Amino acid sequence: MTSDTAGLTGFSGTMIRPEDPEYHAARRLWNGAIDRYPAFIARCLTAEDVALAVRFGVRHDLTIAVRGGGHSFPGLSMCEGGLVIDLSGMRSIEIDAEARRAEVGAGVLWRELDAAAEAYGLAVPGGEVSHTGVAGLTLGGGVGWLSRRYGLTCDNLVAAQLVTADGEILEVTEDGAPELLWGLRGGGGNFGVVTRFTLRLNPIPVPMYAGTVLYPLSAAPLSVFFDIARDAPDELGLNAALITAPPAPFVPPAFHGAPVIALAACYLGDLAAGEAMVRPLRGVGAPIVDAFGPMPYTALQAMVDDSATPGLPAYARSEWLGPLDDSAATALVEAAGRMTSPMSQVLVRITGGAIARVPAEDTAFRFRDAAAILTIAARWPDPADAGAAHHDWTRTTWESLRPWSAGGGYINHLCDEGPGRVREAYGEPAWQRLVALKRKFDPDNVFHLNQNIPPER
Ligand SMILES: Cc1cc2nc3c(=O)[nH]c(=O)nc-3n(C[C@H](O)[C@H](O)[C@H](O)COP(=O)(O)OP(=O)(O)OC[C@H]3O[C@@H](n4cnc5c(N)ncnc54)[C@H](O)[C@@H]3O)c2cc1C
Repeated sequence: MTSDTAGLTGFSGTMIRPEDPEYHAARRLWNGAIDRYPAFIARCLTAEDVALAVRFGVRHDLTIAVRGGGHSFPGLSMCEGGLVIDLSGMRSIEIDAEARRAEVGAGVLWRELDAAAEAYGLAVPGGEVSHTGVAGLTLGGGVGWLSRRYGLTCDNLVAAQLVTADGEILEVTEDGAPELLWGLRGGGGNFGVVTRFTLRLNPIPVPMYAGTVLYPLSAAPLSVFFDIARDAPDELGLNAALITAPPAPFVPPAFHGAPVIALAACYLGDLAAGEAMVRPLRGVGAPIVDAFGPMPYTALQAMVDDSATPGLPAYARSEWLGPLDDSAATALVEAAGRMTSPMSQVLVRITGGAIARVPAEDTAFRFRDAAAILTIAARWPDPADAGAAHHDWTRTTWESLRPWSAGGGYINHLCDEGPGRVREAYGEPAWQRLVALKRKFDPDNVFHLNQNIPPER
């Protein structure tokens, strides 16, 4: 070990330096616009490694970034200079089907956890792109296909192992540290590095009735979608995507490159009931593609992976939305019509159901009563393009949809919107509790490369 890594005796992972062959692969994130050069990437294998790395970073006054699955839109899991605590080597998954619990390492990706749990007919509600990390998504909330039935991912966080800013390893449980556990349910990476997640597993049908139907871009299908969403049972997961039809074999060539709307659903019940439930979505005029049927949850989770491959530049905005009506459908369609890149997307995931039934004070997450989460995600093909036009489209689209806002954005999707938007995303009662926790567990704001909750009030 070189003298500049002194103090890491006992470190069982790999310390990656700029001269090492794996350095450039290790510094890349999902968002290809992020091009940073850390001085150290500590690829950890154990909680003890993480504790050594945290102490090392603090001792040398290094900026510390924490990397789980590497899908932070603004690239908060990579730093310029400084130290990256890279958890991608911590990939263990233990399923206890009887107790309905999963012990999950901090570097696990959703596709790994989904596959391990589905083998028992179980799942943790996660996101909807299979290469996203469990860690960041869980700590910021986590919304996906199963959330209307089983809540947010953070609602299913039962316990955690956490390395604090002074390098202590804590077991965070409901009995032992209820306030800290509360903060980990939505408060992001502000209180330390989570090295292991204990997550509740929930029963799912295998296979389940799910899929998507594509229409030419217009407000009519979206209005029908909103009507269905208004009275949908918790078992029905619903997502609308305003996209450009890819040149894929399942899309008729006449529609390659055309603006389209994809209405997607899954039903957590028997297949016949699922078929009946999604039928109205499939009959709004003539679909371009109709791809519903029985499928494993893991297939549903990978359904849009190809539209979110890692490495391209990206920029996002989000907003939790209130009740949606025909005028919202028109505004969304107009915004999608102005898209500046065929890789960009406007997504509306219907929320409510179990999410809304968790008492507000139980977690740090704010928007229990929202009807949907809007995500405006711009992506473009050329990494040399700084993306001004795409940023501009994202912002103007977001502004045009603010009339339907439920009051703020989603912590896991915030980019460069400033500290006011972070505070707004929590709301004042949760913010005061989070600041108190931050003062207790990270008074020097060692963990500040995140949607930051500063220790000052
Ligand atoms: C393609 C794509 C699809 C997405 N889909 C969804 C979706 O369906 N639903 C949804 O809710 N969100 C979704 N997101 C947003 C996602 O929740 C966030 O980007 C999340 O931060 C990703 O987690 P990660 O571990 O991959 O990210 P990373 O970039 O590794 O981490 C993000 C941040 O989380 C913190 N962090 C990560 N690991 C730890 C840890 N172990 N301990 C403490 N802090 C940690 C750090 O602050 C870090 O900067 C999506 C994002 C992308 C890019």
